[in-house]
Amino acid sequence: MADERTLVLVKPDGVQRALVGDVISRLERRGLHLVGLKLLLIDRALAERHYAEHREKPFFGDLVGFITSSPVVAMVWEGPGAVAMVRSMMGATDPANAAPGTIRGDHAVSIGANVVHGSDSVSRAAEEVALFFEPGELVEWTSAQAAWLH
Ligand code: UDP
Ligand code: MG
Repeated sequence: MADERTLVLVKPDGVQRALVGDVISRLERRGLHLVGLKLLLIDRALAERHYAEHREKPFFGDLVGFITSSPVVAMVWEGPGAVAMVRSMMGATDPANAAPGTIRGDHAVSIGANVVHGSDSVSRAAEEVALFFEPGELVEWTSAQAAWLH
């Protein structure tokens, strides 16, 4: 499986509920490694670009309103098959359908406040990573530095 990078957001509800550490811990323990990390308040322009695929949906206004309402933690995680792996660890979009053991299945009840975002394809991941991070903000692990990475 090829190394991939994926964008993960801990959404405003997850930050406010002190779930940042849990999300990071799950991804770390799984064996993915972190290549970028920041806390930020998303502005409207970034939110509309990030969620552009949903522009025509009835929930778009609420979605943009929520994601810009308070700080989020944005991260880039890397590893073999990272995009699909993170999606499976997040659980279904609607927490009512999210399996126990997934982030949403363990921590959420509301589709609007479902704790995390994860890119849904390798191509979209590259676009989302570029929306949130400058190239210089991402770490390229050398093999020597990665000696203790699993
Ligand atoms: N969302 C919502 N109502 C819906 C569908 C989605 O509020 O009927 C929100 C939900 O928070 C979701 C986000 O919009 O995480 C983006 O939707 P998407 O279908 O891309 O789900 P995701 O990729 O986050 O699982
Ligand atoms: Mg999505």
